[in-house]
Amino acid sequence: MSAQLPPPRLEVRALGRVFDGLAVVDDVSFAIPAGQVTCLLGPSGCGKSTTLRLIAGVDTQDAGEIYVDGAAISDGSVHVPPEQRAIGLMFQDFALFPHLTVAENIAFGLKGDAAAKRARVTELLEKVRLLRHRDSYPHGLSGGEQQRVALARALAPRPRILLMDEPFSGLDERLRDDIRDETLALLKEENTAVLLVTHEPHEAMRMADEILLMRGGKIVQRGAPYNLYNAPVDRAAAAFFSDVN
Ligand code: ADP
Ligand code: MG
Repeated sequence: MSAQLPPPRLEVRALGRVFDGLAVVDDVSFAIPAGQVTCLLGPSGCGKSTTLRLIAGVDTQDAGEIYVDGAAISDGSVHVPPEQRAIGLMFQDFALFPHLTVAENIAFGLKGDAAAKRARVTELLEKVRLLRHRDSYPHGLSGGEQQRVALARALAPRPRILLMDEPFSGLDERLRDDIRDETLALLKEENTAVLLVTHEPHEAMRMADEILLMRGGKIVQRGAPYNLYNAPVDRAAAAFFSDVN
């Protein structure tokens, strides 16, 4: 008897969104299991952020369905509101609350008793190496440190899925690869299913288990980074990957 596989953490089927008569997201389907980082990669304007907003529930698709752990959260009849989707968000302008300490920022979305919250905050502070900044305010931290607080805050409630939209683009270029590697290690430890949006092939090559290459609202190629790099689907894909270092 074969073991029953769990459903993917996130699955989208035939997702579509039209703005002003233009299909900005066009028949997009994919699935992400726990512990996997999937990068939605493509040039500016191809529909990446719109796809993320549909999954987050802050916008609603015109076609298709979205499932979390096999249950529909948006399918034309069901529409679970964003705050009930167990989805964590991290965007480029990851604004921390300036009037709250680092620990208070990380605890912000947590429910339950004070001791459990405190334990979870301490665990994450250790993982992002900011224990000594527990009672600091965000303005006293470097950009990289603030980014780590934002990551800890997003992961604190143990979201089933984490959506990240160009999370490193506000950072100094020299810091980015180190922060990418640290972020990836923490994402793996937490066993989250991650959809990371980026327009940088290098970032997708470095972080993704699977890349979804998007163009004009459609996924034109998908697979392991190595496969996309070595066997691009067409000239445009080859050109896009040609500057990966
Ligand atoms: P990306 O994140 O890949 O850069 P977006 O998903 O932000 O792309 O945008 C895709 C396209 O949809 C763009 O042409 C953008 O102008 C358009 N668009 C996004 N949101 C809206 C909106 N609310 N109304 C009209 N057009 C939109
Ligand atoms: Mg975008």
